[in-house]
Amino acid sequence: MSKQGNLSIHSENIFPIIKKWLYSDHDIFTRELISNACDAILKFKKLCDLGETSDALNEPFKITVAVDESSKTISFSDNGIGMTEEEIEKYITQIAFSGAEDFLSKYKDKMDQDQIIGHFGLGFYSSFMVAENVVIDTLSYRDNEAIKWTCDGGTTYTLSEGSRTTRGTTITLHVNEESKQFLNLYTLKQTIEKYCSFMPIPIYVIEEGKQNTEESSAENSNEKAEEPKPINDTLPLYVKQPSDCTDEDYKSFYHKAFMDFNEPLFWIHLNMDYPFKLKGILYFPKLAHELETIEGRIKLYNNQVFVAENIKEVIPEFLLLLKGIIDCPDLPLNVSRSLLQNDGFVKKIADYITKKVADKLISLYKKEEESYKKFWDDISPFIKYGCLREPKFYEKMKDYVLFKTIDDEYLTLGSYLEKVKNVSENKVFYVSDKNQQSQYIKMFKENELSAIYLEHSIDNAFISHMERENKEVKFARIDSDIASTLKEDTVDKTHEEKLTDLFRKTLNNETLKVSVENLKSSSIPSMILVSEESRRMQEMMRMYNMSGMGMDHFKDEITLILNQNHPLIQTLSHENTSSETTHLLCEHLYDLALLANQTLSPDAMHAFIERSNKLLQMIVK
Ligand code: ADP
Repeated sequence: MSKQGNLSIHSENIFPIIKKWLYSDHDIFTRELISNACDAILKFKKLCDLGETSDALNEPFKITVAVDESSKTISFSDNGIGMTEEEIEKYITQIAFSGAEDFLSKYKDKMDQDQIIGHFGLGFYSSFMVAENVVIDTLSYRDNEAIKWTCDGGTTYTLSEGSRTTRGTTITLHVNEESKQFLNLYTLKQTIEKYCSFMPIPIYVIEEGKQNTEESSAENSNEKAEEPKPINDTLPLYVKQPSDCTDEDYKSFYHKAFMDFNEPLFWIHLNMDYPFKLKGILYFPKLAHELETIEGRIKLYNNQVFVAENIKEVIPEFLLLLKGIIDCPDLPLNVSRSLLQNDGFVKKIADYITKKVADKLISLYKKEEESYKKFWDDISPFIKYGCLREPKFYEKMKDYVLFKTIDDEYLTLGSYLEKVKNVSENKVFYVSDKNQQSQYIKMFKENELSAIYLEHSIDNAFISHMERENKEVKFARIDSDIASTLKEDTVDKTHEEKLTDLFRKTLNNETLKVSVENLKSSSIPSMILVSEESRRMQEMMRMYNMSGMGMDHFKDEITLILNQNHPLIQTLSHENTSSETTHLLCEHLYDLALLANQTLSPDAMHAFIERSNKLLQMIVK
């Protein structure tokens, strides 16, 4: 029996497209052929379950991928349902049955490489991306004659007698020169692990052709007897019932799936059947450094077959900071990404995931407040990002956003405002840099005042967001203002003019703002305040790279505070000479105030050191 034929309809158009365009990742042929093999086995199992046939083979269901570097072939064998001659004609030869024609007419002009993420019923033909010749050898469970189909990627094929003696299909690729990297066992295994790690049928990857030499050199006979292990986990944790999974299971699954050997903080097991099917686990990773930019990975699966990673059309963008697996067999992955974006169903999935994440966080807060607080530093950038990006997420989470105070308490905005009600109503003092603002923190603590840490890069945007959402609340950096509790009301302003004059002249700065206050703490002679508004304006301009656009007059607006309670300031107010000592004192008090707020410019630093030495000399004189 031998027969020749022409591949049905338009294959001359299809092949070049498959080769060049259809999949930008050539390694995808492994996914396509293995998932076909998997389907063939599942179909056979189903028929057995239905009592339509029985399994006479008595061997475990499995898929074997064998690579032979010397003959340059890779073969995919399964003991599934197999195909009859008619089925080969129908499903393989007449590609149009798989929707290829439709696809072509629709996308011919629009296709770009990354637009397509699904498969189009052209799965089998992806083998021609890497093979110059493909042979299907198959025996249907209904037949006793095996069929061989051979095609070299042109428009003709041959059908002849096959050599399989047991039920199932073997597809052999004669790998082309450009794709020979797949003949390397290690590369091939890696590729298969990427796509097939969770497929439901065991997959074995073996090397052929080298066997003899290896066997003869294997000295340890135990090694030979070792059972080969499948490359995949046929029942990955996420498909199990959450009640059947232990914490240890979740952790080890995390280590394996993401090659991240840190412990995840916690996780969410998603398991939904209606109105759509979705399973998965989302992990909250631990940040290695406080200010590390987190980069997550969400892997998308379709019935345990890997589809793609970090598809932001399906997964709300802020969730991409997490690590996880989402398996949604209902996703219409056979459309382009731009279509996916506007798909109402996809939006529903994204909303569902967002809601689940918020629910989990809220229940953690309610049931295990201490753990929630412990995790807060790690999860807060994620939650804040979510609040900024997704109004629905913010609505749910707003009462569960915590603020860490300088006394290491974790409070919600509400309870923080309650705490400071009598000292600074509706005003939230914050620290943006613990080290730089340490002097101010010390002063706040001495006066039993509270402030919160907002040190992450996302916090600037988050502060603006919170002010927009809570109109009565104002955030002010710890160095921007003096809270009323830090000073006494009775300020004698008579010296203010004199001192302003003195400092302006001495420092040669006619516009310097000076304010005389009665600070409770008598250990601080001078300090700097930086206006919150002008500073925010500056930061914004820096962010948008707007400096040098004629807006340079928006400098940080600083005020020099002089503490009337301090003996040095008192001396300066009364002495009316322009002696060298006064000069040195003014300059030094200004520099010290600046130093507690920011780093000095190189010139100012130089002058400061020189002056310090001079002052030391004056002490010993
Ligand atoms: P799709 O899998 O999207 O239908 P393919 O081109 O990959 O498109 O496969 C076409 C058809 O060929 C399959 O639907 C199946 O009926 C048949 N087929 C492919 N591979 C196998 C196999 N290993 N065993 C049995 N049937 C197969």
